[in-house]
Amino acid sequence: MSGASDLLEEYHGLHMAPAQEVHEQIAWANPAARCVRVRVREHTCSRCAPCYEFCVAGGLAFVRRSVKGVIHETAWTMTAEAERVWAAMLRGEAR
Ligand SMILES: [Zn+2]
Repeated sequence: MSGASDLLEEYHGLHMAPAQEVHEQIAWANPAARCVRVRVREHTCSRCAPCYEFCVAGGLAFVRRSVKGVIHETAWTMTAEAERVWAAMLRGEAR
């Protein structure tokens, strides 16, 4: 829920919570060169780096991270697993 302090700032998208001291370490890999159409279902604020995107492609899902044009992504997994990782990232429990 948004509080009064949130209203003072211009809302410009979803933000990840800062990583907790102990958090799941994501194995970021170079983008897989797969010939399938990737659909971005959700993404964090594009004005704050890194920008994260929840991507769905070919029945699988993964999270993409981009920092200054350098792109990495998680392993392509079942959608439920990628959703779990995405939710953990938003809570600062994975990074
Ligand atoms: Zn932002």
